[in-house]
Amino acid sequence: MATGMITGWSYFGVRNPRHVATDLDDMLRHNANAVLFTVSEEDNAFYRDTMRQLVALAHERDMTVYMNPWAYGGVFGGEAFSGFLPRHPEAMQIDSKGDPVPAACLNNRTFRDYLFEWIETVAFCGADVAMWDEPHFFIFGWDELFAAKRDRWTCRCQTCQTAFEARFGHKMPHEMTPEVRQFRHESIVNFLDEMTTRAKARGLKNSICILPFTFNLDDGVENLEDIFRLPSLDILATDPYWDREHGDDWVREHYTRNAEILVENAQKFGVEPEIWIKNFKIASGQEHLVELATEIGFDAGIRRILAWSYLGSAYMSSLRSDNPLQVYERQAKAFQVCHQKAERG
Ligand SMILES: [Zn+2]
Repeated sequence: MATGMITGWSYFGVRNPRHVATDLDDMLRHNANAVLFTVSEEDNAFYRDTMRQLVALAHERDMTVYMNPWAYGGVFGGEAFSGFLPRHPEAMQIDSKGDPVPAACLNNRTFRDYLFEWIETVAFCGADVAMWDEPHFFIFGWDELFAAKRDRWTCRCQTCQTAFEARFGHKMPHEMTPEVRQFRHESIVNFLDEMTTRAKARGLKNSICILPFTFNLDDGVENLEDIFRLPSLDILATDPYWDREHGDDWVREHYTRNAEILVENAQKFGVEPEIWIKNFKIASGQEHLVELATEIGFDAGIRRILAWSYLGSAYMSSLRSDNPLQVYERQAKAFQVCHQKAERG
């Protein structure tokens, strides 16, 4: 499969190298040549050497290895809890009414240093790509406990207030204003600049996965160009995952539009585009959307196509698809079609 085409799945929940080796062999038989190992705060604390073994197993099989800071500090995507937050309540994001939320502030030095430790682990493991997955300011609507406070925003912690005043010459308001939007955006860009620069210095490639451009989420990112032009960025990705109530038209619209934006900017800024396909919580009868989304990404010119997660996410009940093996087989087939098309040029 030496077509330059990268295909693969994310992988989590299993840390026993005996079983991981078996699963990697299975992925290879299903047209993958890459794998993303999630590295949560728990993995970093308790599985550091184990994770290195897992990377070695993947490299023995000529697979490209991605790692992501899974749900680190509640700032990135992922199904993992943070041990950092209860130990560093002073680093939590503070909302516009003065209450803390379960996410670390992107401007907090202690949190940034904590991520430097993650970079050290990933470099130690020998991974190829550091994947900065869905970095965002706290999104109230995503958390049942906080959904009622969705009129609030973050971050108004002391660090952010001080930085805002230094930037704009007056106190940070309690209301969302254009300056607050700009401050949040600049905070994310500065955060990603520091992380990617550090990761690159440790020999890693950087992929940033931004929440889908067409979703208009309140993640804090105001324009993509500032992310695309980060000097240490290699790959820019997005993940326009559909819901149960969505169908072919929705997938066609959002995958096409997001893929176009990716490819257009990637060419302009000299980075590689990457797209993620939903392989979790796929409703019965919607398995074909996996192939449709993959095909749209490939036809738009994207040559890094990965899926979340292995085996239709069968082994994590909160993410499991209705027919996980069918999702897996269809994704494998879609990967195969990509490689065949790439071979033909
Ligand atoms: Zn803050």
